[in-house]
Amino acid sequence: MTSGTLDLGPAVDPAVDGDVEPLWQLLSPPSRFDSSNARVLGASGVRLRFADGVDALCASSGLWNVNIGYGNQAVADAVHRAMLDASYLTLFRRSHPWALEAARTLVELCGADTFGRVLFSTSGSAANDAMMKIVRHYWALRGQPGRRLVVGLRDSYHGLTYGSSALTGEDLAQDLYLVDRRFVRHVGHTDPAALRRLVTGAGAQIGAVVVEPVLGTGAHEIPDDFLAELIALREQYGFLLVADEVATGFGRTGTWFASQAWPATPDVMVLSKGLTNGTCAGSAVVVSHEIRAAFDEADAVLAHGETNAGTPPTCAAITATVAQMRQHDVVARGAALGERLGAGLAELVDRHPAAVAHRGRGCFRHLSLVRPDGEPYTPDDVVAALEAIRLAGAAVHPGPAGIQLVPPLIYTDDDLAELLDCVERGLTAVWTGRVDQLRA
Ligand code: PMP
Repeated sequence: MTSGTLDLGPAVDPAVDGDVEPLWQLLSPPSRFDSSNARVLGASGVRLRFADGVDALCASSGLWNVNIGYGNQAVADAVHRAMLDASYLTLFRRSHPWALEAARTLVELCGADTFGRVLFSTSGSAANDAMMKIVRHYWALRGQPGRRLVVGLRDSYHGLTYGSSALTGEDLAQDLYLVDRRFVRHVGHTDPAALRRLVTGAGAQIGAVVVEPVLGTGAHEIPDDFLAELIALREQYGFLLVADEVATGFGRTGTWFASQAWPATPDVMVLSKGLTNGTCAGSAVVVSHEIRAAFDEADAVLAHGETNAGTPPTCAAITATVAQMRQHDVVARGAALGERLGAGLAELVDRHPAAVAHRGRGCFRHLSLVRPDGEPYTPDDVVAALEAIRLAGAAVHPGPAGIQLVPPLIYTDDDLAELLDCVERGLTAVWTGRVDQLRA
């Protein structure tokens, strides 16, 4: 595994003339799609090559999923073998050894004392849909069908399918799309008193509280007093605790899973992103022995299934990714890198007039930015800063009134120094109105 220099094979660029119109660019306004620079022609290790010739360090890990870098040979080989050798049917009483092996791997990783079964799905969003079905079905099986409410955090992100979109606390056009949120409640992550009020008022109806251990949008950590209150209320009212570790899992915040730093273990963990290192669409819902027992005792069939969930290539990618992470000690490496990243951002805040605050944990960080007039960055300012930093040589992620730094966990010290330098040069160019000089 290397974070080394860019060594790309032949570029694959079907849209050489900038003709990208048939492509629906997800979560992007069509008018802003700039075909000259937005296309990434290739990637290797921790580096990207853009269509306009810019080579940049990847500091977003794709969309927070490429934790061990691009083009990992061992993962690619495992996926390749599974594609050639396997039957893809995973439903209706059929399965295959790749799925069993991946499920065993995940149960062991999450903690075999607590967790007993894994459901495979195809995305973080779909896994959250399945998770909410599991929660409601579980309570029905345990004779408490009235526990229909699911509580999420305000400003959280859990996905954009209809079910997960209801749980997502950010405002993402749920009203426009007629997302039914009757059975979901949201509470602010810094307000333990509001959580207590909600639970004491509706406790017997609450099936689960779902927490993103670090709120992905903005990299907000959950304060200790909120977590302590949540865990005390769970003791008292018996609802299930779900950790949505889609973004925080697989070493992103310095431990295998962010909830492993909590004072209590969740009943359910939802995984995706780093699960396959971005190579295959895949996700997993990992449930406790108690939830497994409820379904086993009733021989109950969960009405959830997806044709392409848990295919052999995806499961091979999971097993191989975890093996690579263990072999190369990636979690410890990422934890040390995260500390240095935090220290580097603190220095930047001290030194640079545009950088006013940073937050986050491990390799999951947010940097708040202001304009020369002292106003926080607008979404347009963020787009301009991303472009300046890209021209300076690093591809970072947009954040609310700032940028997010989510590097692959395999950066070397030199990579990190380069990233911080690119961010600083990009921000300075924006601050002084000299972005054009970066193009020269
Ligand atoms: N939950 C969390 C915490 C996430 O960060 C995301 C994706 N950013 C999702 C769910 C949804 O995952 P997907 O995009 O794979 O549907």
